[in-house]
Amino acid sequence: DEHLTDEQLLADPVDRIVAVGGTRHPSIPLPGDLFMPQRPNSQGLDLEDWRVLKRVKEGIAGRSGIGPEPEPVTDVAPLVDRAARAFPGWSGLPIEDRAACMIRLADLLEERRGELMALAVHEANKTIPDALAEVREAIDFCRYYAGEAVEKLQPVELPGPTGESNILRMEGRGVWTCIAPWNFPLAIFTGQVAAALVTGNTVIAKPAPQTPRIAAEAVRLAHLAGVPEDALILVPGGPTVGAALTGDPRIAGVAFTGSTPTAKKIAQSLLEGDDRPIVPLIAETGGVNAMIVDSTALAEQVVADVLLSAFGSAGQRCSALRLLLVQEEVAEHMIQMLTGAMDALIVGDPADPATDVGPVIDDAAYDKLMTHRAAMKDRWVKTLEVPEKGRFVPPTLIRLDSMDDLKTEWFGPLLHVATWKSGKLEETVQRVNAKGFGLTMGLHSRIARGSELVEARARVGNLYVNRSMIGAIVGSQPFGGEGLSGTGPKAGGPHYLPRFCAERVTSIDT
Ligand code: GLU
Repeated sequence: DEHLTDEQLLADPVDRIVAVGGTRHPSIPLPGDLFMPQRPNSQGLDLEDWRVLKRVKEGIAGRSGIGPEPEPVTDVAPLVDRAARAFPGWSGLPIEDRAACMIRLADLLEERRGELMALAVHEANKTIPDALAEVREAIDFCRYYAGEAVEKLQPVELPGPTGESNILRMEGRGVWTCIAPWNFPLAIFTGQVAAALVTGNTVIAKPAPQTPRIAAEAVRLAHLAGVPEDALILVPGGPTVGAALTGDPRIAGVAFTGSTPTAKKIAQSLLEGDDRPIVPLIAETGGVNAMIVDSTALAEQVVADVLLSAFGSAGQRCSALRLLLVQEEVAEHMIQMLTGAMDALIVGDPADPATDVGPVIDDAAYDKLMTHRAAMKDRWVKTLEVPEKGRFVPPTLIRLDSMDDLKTEWFGPLLHVATWKSGKLEETVQRVNAKGFGLTMGLHSRIARGSELVEARARVGNLYVNRSMIGAIVGSQPFGGEGLSGTGPKAGGPHYLPRFCAERVTSIDT
């Protein structure tokens, strides 16, 4: 039987590290060994593997891997108590032991990829290729942060100018709250949790209310991988539960991915209470992301990259392209090619491997997007037919008189297009910056001077030149923005883990 039981999964040379309380761990590959540009670690994850496809199909048909929905929690205080009690034990382990749990978790995610992909399709309406990428990214986060922690978070000796010894240590801060979005219900959920855990924190993890089951499966696997039950506690629920968590004065830090208004609310609530410690917030929010196309760009390449960036994942990525800015001289040609290519998009059932664009996540999202789309009706350049049943927002290209007319993020397959005048590249970038968001930007140009200028002026976390602007790869394209788009540091990058740590120095006169 290709479907291993939990007992079989555990019958592995490296057993439950924490259960034995020891330091037995597999050799931890360092980041340099794991990540090849354009090819994450996950060589083993292949859709060609018939066993996985079978499990995806069975899962989608509801026959395996889909557990019951976890019950929403009402009282978070006792859970924070439990996580606080587990903190000394977990934070006291050697870094290698915590990292070993993350490596083990990566292995279990890989083993369970069929069920996890099915859950991503079921709960989040992911297409099958997106579901595969989702599992890959979750695995990458675990392995990358394990390697980073072992390599970079060891105690270091600093110079002692008066003969003293100075040791800098990076330690867990306490109980972290991780709040994940529904659009990457496994990858971002697991990434936040792995970072907080490997640095020695215990974790309360709140998945988005739309996607609790895939998160519950990730937590179950983390426990199987050796993370003590109280060191990682799943807290399903909506905004009330989120507010109770961020309002609890025992929380030592928050990692949040979601909307800008919610991030601001969290920041505010973390400051309430006179006696409350000042704790870090890592927020990753949205963007009004632009792609600038000049007259030297390769039209076919632009079209392919625009389709993927704007309509892939039904536009439900915070990195997604929202505003296409084409140099006036080539605009008509480019728009004509784009509208032609849009016809080839397959909008439909996400469980069908051929589908490019699935339905959006819920009724609220559907209504919001359809209202905006309807309001822009006289500006449509192109829209697609979609299946009648289901929350399908028709991919739509909307023409604006001015790039300044788009001020908010529309989280779906609605692409706005405007033009810019020759000689105004710098001004165009400044006008995009002026929107206040700073997540991703795209540029298509074959002039080096142009891309140098954009690189120097763009205030974004991720600039993509002559390629699509979604799908950042862990360890190669650290992801996250600035301004209204978030606080940094960047997920999947070398500066992420330190933000989860307390930095402590001991100086001893000898
Ligand atoms: N990291 C994802 C990407 O590069 C986006 C993450 C998000 O939407 O929150 O496409």
